[in-house]
Amino acid sequence: MDFNALAELLFPETTQTRDDMEKRFPKRELPENACVTRIGPSPTGFVHLGNLYNAIIAERLAHQSDGVFYLRIEDTDNKREVEGAVETIINSMAFYDVLFDEGATSDGDKGNYGPYRQRQRREIYHVFAKWLVGQGLAYPCFLTEDELSAIREEQEKNKENPGIYGKYAEKSRSLTLEQIKENIAAGMPWVLRYRGVETDEYISVNDAIRGKLEMPRNNMDFVLLKSDGIPTYHFAHVVDDHLMRSTHVIRGDEWISSLPMHVELFRVFGWEMPIYCHTATLQKLENGGKRKLSKRKDPELSLEFYQQEGFYQAAVWEFLLTILNSNFEEWRIADPDSSYLDFKFSLDKMSNSGALVDLDKLNNISKEVIGRMKPSEVYEKWLGWCEKYNAQFAELLKKYPERTKNALGVGKSGNNPRKDITSWKQACDFMSFYYDETFKIFDEMPAEVDEATRKLFFEKYIAGYDHSDDQSAWFEKVKAITEELGFAAKPKDYKKNPEQYKGSIVHITNMLRIALTGHSNAPDIWEISHVLGKELSENRLRKWA
Ligand code: GLU
Repeated sequence: MDFNALAELLFPETTQTRDDMEKRFPKRELPENACVTRIGPSPTGFVHLGNLYNAIIAERLAHQSDGVFYLRIEDTDNKREVEGAVETIINSMAFYDVLFDEGATSDGDKGNYGPYRQRQRREIYHVFAKWLVGQGLAYPCFLTEDELSAIREEQEKNKENPGIYGKYAEKSRSLTLEQIKENIAAGMPWVLRYRGVETDEYISVNDAIRGKLEMPRNNMDFVLLKSDGIPTYHFAHVVDDHLMRSTHVIRGDEWISSLPMHVELFRVFGWEMPIYCHTATLQKLENGGKRKLSKRKDPELSLEFYQQEGFYQAAVWEFLLTILNSNFEEWRIADPDSSYLDFKFSLDKMSNSGALVDLDKLNNISKEVIGRMKPSEVYEKWLGWCEKYNAQFAELLKKYPERTKNALGVGKSGNNPRKDITSWKQACDFMSFYYDETFKIFDEMPAEVDEATRKLFFEKYIAGYDHSDDQSAWFEKVKAITEELGFAAKPKDYKKNPEQYKGSIVHITNMLRIALTGHSNAPDIWEISHVLGKELSENRLRKWA
């Protein structure tokens, strides 16, 4: 067979060569050890937490080393493509401050190694496909769907590996140039297959996360180009990551099984392989065991979930960094004030067993992250979220900016500042008592205080209340009324001799807390009264007097 004639027949319009491509996409001039990384999401409309997880690794590796981080849209599978999905990916990454140096953007491409959308790189793939055909390393295959299913059935019956190889490849491999010409002239669709070798060799790849991976060398005639001339993931990955000069390929471990095909292609092209980093599958705890997160069952797999629930972006980053690097938490404790970007991320500190997505952990991390922020910053971010997801609450925040910022400062002055906010959504519940518009009584008044005593307490409290009292003067007054009504001013006295008292100061302050906030569990009463102001506080108390 004249392979060059076949290459011309299959790719008459492809005139450029491998050399032309090497010149068009030269080696990048970067400092030594600079990493070039990318994410290659497919525009399916569903952006998952794993996309951000991998993006964080790639972004950190590139930007910690003065390298380049880019976005490549892997849209070779148009069956899965959903309208607007590229924008969704771009916007989700921007939302999490994942900043690309190059790649697809909402107004076209940025960078010299594009196009960054695979469907627009068709001509580039064809240059390499044509070269492979010319070398006798690839051939057109005209097998129909029916023929492919018959092969699959036979293989199942014989308990053989699925795929086109050995005797199953014979029919297509043995076509003559004439026959191929005739088939093409007759309009028969074809795919381009790699010509695999029968071998019992093994390949070995040093994965930066998994360590050494040993696998049988590829022996399959796998598809390089589909019948519409668009490449498969395997072919596109190798060509793109070579030409875009990626140094590291960070991707999910579901790709490990196709590694032999990728290694094979790097080998026949004579290209240096990138460093593979196969990341662990995201898992969750369930019934005492771990299981893979599922798109159908677990809303937390979708990145949208974190946006809708109002998790602050930095908290999600810190949560993922905690999962990614075993030393992140320790670093954060030692260095509470630095940006998470100051943490030195490293591939060596990654675990290769499953990555556990634990929302309780996220809540705890969020509390810490938001707890470290200034009230004015919390106000801005919270308002930003409300404007998109809770318009009614956004109105309240805009109507009462000062009160809100003061409320956000409650409990912040002591040695052990309060950390109450886990998400912007939760903040809308937790903070609702600061506004009459959303204030509601949730808890029952303590049963230890009968109705008459309760009324009496509120009358006395209001009568003696002086808004200018400092915290201790205020507390002395509360204690005095407590004793007057036959309650213990010290909880431990009540505990020791419960028969001598009607109850303790805990019951009294609970009443106050419920009257002011609707909850028996709330921040400091004196501070809250000052945030609400004299009039608003008294109005709430008067209802009980
Ligand atoms: N398009 C692939 C995916 O969405 C990307 C894998 C890669 O990063 O190479 O899984």
